[in-house]
Formats: sequence, structure tokens, C-alpha cells
Amino acid sequence: MVLRTIKLGETDRIVSILTQGNGKVRAVAKGIRRPGSRFGARLEPTSHVALQCYAGRELDVVTQVETIDAFRALREHYGSLTHAVSMLEAADSVAQERERNQPLYRMLVGGLRTLATNPSALVAPAFFWKLLSLEGFHPILEDCARCGSDEEPFPGFDFGEGGVLCEGCARFGGRRVRPAALALLRRILGGALAGALADPGGGEIVVEVDAAIGSWRAPVRAGARLSSSSTGPGCPAVGPGRTAPAGFPPPWPAAGPREGRGARRR
Ligand SMILES: [Zn+2]
Repeated sequence: MVLRTIKLGETDRIVSILTQGNGKVRAVAKGIRRPGSRFGARLEPTSHVALQCYAGRELDVVTQVETIDAFRALREHYGSLTHAVSMLEAADSVAQERERNQPLYRMLVGGLRTLATNPSALVAPAFFWKLLSLEGFHPILEDCARCGSDEEPFPGFDFGEGGVLCEGCARFGGRRVRPAALALLRRILGGALAGALADPGGGEIVVEVDAAIGSWRAPVRAGARLSSSSTGPGCPAVGPGRTAPAGFPPPWPAAGPREGRGARRR
């Protein structure tokens, strides 16, 4: 899957590709910007291609390209293209060079295919949430992320705390979420994404699910690495009495005492 391209010299481009078996690969497409190039428009972001390269001194060099799916529907619809590009950027930011990540590859191809056939506003936010979950940041949706209470309702959501907040804790921070938005988020992350896409509820619910990711999404898109190894108990940046780092990842321990989660971001 072509993630992005950058110009190189007069006629070439460096193409970043997310591969099925080799993680992110960067390769030079020589002469691609010349009129009549044999690569044509086959190496554009959102193109799903079969690629042959040879190993160059610094970068691989593309020798052959065959289109599997150009996802034309995405490019012809501006709204879909915007969503597709944000999904590509997010995948680009978490993919490691030459590090096999098949779940990410499958999620990206599946996500773009879904967007091409069903240009719902929910596809991109659902992709972001599932990407966070894949990277080890699965929000707590069944108990209060701050005090541990399992008593519904959970009218608050605080990404920094790690999930939903009960009535009492929601008074002290987080953003308000309506029950319908929480239900939708549970469906997205609980394996019922297809059903959620078929019937997402109103547009304002989708907006709320998107907004709950909040400012955390910006660093993902800017290219910060989501690294689960830098979270959790023992992480020097977060913990009681310490301040969370300014960027990604959010300070959620994978497991451990609830008190350890107390990184406030206000
Ligand atoms: Zn609580």
C-alpha cells in the first residue's frame, strides 16, 4: 500500500510503502515524473500494488509495478480522500521500517476498502480507535478509568486517564460523552464494527466518537511513534506526582495499579 511519495531530484520519487511481509519500505521510482513513465500513476498514495524492487545501496529501486486496486473511488471523492490520507498518515506513523506488521497491513487495506465502498464518516475514526487498540492503547470502557467503579452511567471520557469516567469522577475532568457515543465506541472496539458502520446512529454521535480521541490524534498524524514499550509501570515520564509527556503515547499502563495511571493532562 503506497503511503506517501516525495520528490527526488528532477524526475524521481521516493515512495513509502507498507508491505505485507516487510513492514514499511522506502524505494526510489526512477523517472516516474517524466512524461510517459512506465510507472504512470500507479504509485500514488492509496494505491494497492504488487511491487518488485532490487536492493540499492541506500534505498531499494522499483523495477516493476502492477496495480491490485487503485481505490479510484477514494480519489474521486474529496471527503473520502481526506479520510484516506489521514488513515495513511496514521499507519505511516506507527509502521516501522522493515518490521513485519501484518495486522496493521490488513487493517489499512481493509479500512481503505471499506471507505471506498461505504464512504461513511465513521470509517476513519473507527480506524484510529482500532489502530490505538492495536498499538496497545485499549481504552477502559466498562469501568471508571479513574476510580474503578463499574456502575453505569459513564458520562465522561478522559483519554489521559485511559477511558470512561463515572458520574463522580466526570465532575473533575474529561469530556462529556453521550450514552449512544459510548455504545458506538464499544461496538467499534468490541468486534462489531461492521454492524456499527451499517447503523452508526446520528452524525453527531460519530462526531463525538471522533472527538473523544481528541488531541491525541494530532501527534499520531504528525508522525510520533506509538510505542507501548514506553508506557506502563516503570515509565519514568508518568506516575503519581509526575507529569505526563507532552506527546504520544498516552500514559496508560497496560496493567497494574489504578493509582499509577494518574497522569493529568489539563
Ligand atoms: Zn469514578
